[in-house]
Amino acid sequence: MVSDIRNMVSGEWHAARSNISNPAQLKLSGHMLLVYGANDNRVYVQADIELVEVSQRVGSIPREIAFPDGSLFETPDNDGIDALLRHHRKKGVGVVHWLEQFRPRLIGITAAAVLLAYATYRLALPAMVELAVAVTPPMVPELMSSSTMAALDRTAFSPSELTNEKQDEIRQDFAKIAAHAEGAPEDYKLNFRKGGVIGPNAFALPDGTLVVTDELVSVAGDDLQMITGVLAHEIGHVEYEHSLRQLYRAAGLAGLVMLVAGDVGSAMEDILTQGGGLLALSHSRDAEAEADRRSVELMRAAGLDATAIERFFALMEKEFGDHDKTSMLSTHPGTPERREAIINYDKELQNR
Ligand SMILES: [Zn+2]
Repeated sequence: MVSDIRNMVSGEWHAARSNISNPAQLKLSGHMLLVYGANDNRVYVQADIELVEVSQRVGSIPREIAFPDGSLFETPDNDGIDALLRHHRKKGVGVVHWLEQFRPRLIGITAAAVLLAYATYRLALPAMVELAVAVTPPMVPELMSSSTMAALDRTAFSPSELTNEKQDEIRQDFAKIAAHAEGAPEDYKLNFRKGGVIGPNAFALPDGTLVVTDELVSVAGDDLQMITGVLAHEIGHVEYEHSLRQLYRAAGLAGLVMLVAGDVGSAMEDILTQGGGLLALSHSRDAEAEADRRSVELMRAAGLDATAIERFFALMEKEFGDHDKTSMLSTHPGTPERREAIINYDKELQNR
């Protein structure tokens, strides 16, 4: 930053023990402060800057520079004195005065503070999310899941119309991937529902409750592994606790501080129970990519078609395009890049 370096200040000079004021100029030359007569250019006094005493800046009260010989230079030009002394960090320069020097830079400082706060938020939020996930008692995801399931059953779902044979077939394949998932296979509970407005979809609730809609099963037709691939993806969401993370990110830093501090207000409870449902249905792009990779891993581990989920996205895109607002495609966008990433990850695992 370029500051207004000035080396000359106008004021009045009083000789020691004299009340006579002489119009004068204060000048800085190297380390020396010199006082010249404004009219005759005569040097009244000079001294090393370290040896003079500068009065502190208080509002617009004139500033006094006391020289070792007892003479005094006085000026109302506070800014001039500050500019003159700025690079000399003279002792006795008060904090208030120092702050006042910076007043013109207040906007800059404010901008810096905002940037700092933003950076802190960007760094602190993910850390707080991890902390909150770590200290979340099992009761919370269970509560989120049961209330979401109840809400969906009330508003969108109806009982599945799939035959028992079909359900069993899907369950058998599902058991193969659940066996390789984190935790016990019983932690993952597969549910069948007719999706209604939800359409062809599958999702996982944070406690390990999985739902697949009749519509999705119907889209997959005879391709059972396609369904299993989607369910493996949903297991990935559970394992990575994506819903909980999503919810905590939405709660923000303030909400998380309250939560971790153990002060769960009623507002927070509302978010946990009411907001959980909507959030459980959609994830960030990163979370989706993570769950896709998990699907490939679980399917491989179970000896099934590792890229079945890629075929599912391709099929969905062909059948529904991107018009259906509630389908698996809208909550799990199956972009060409995403399908490519799935195939590439499988190749990567093959070559290991
Ligand atoms: Zn997903």
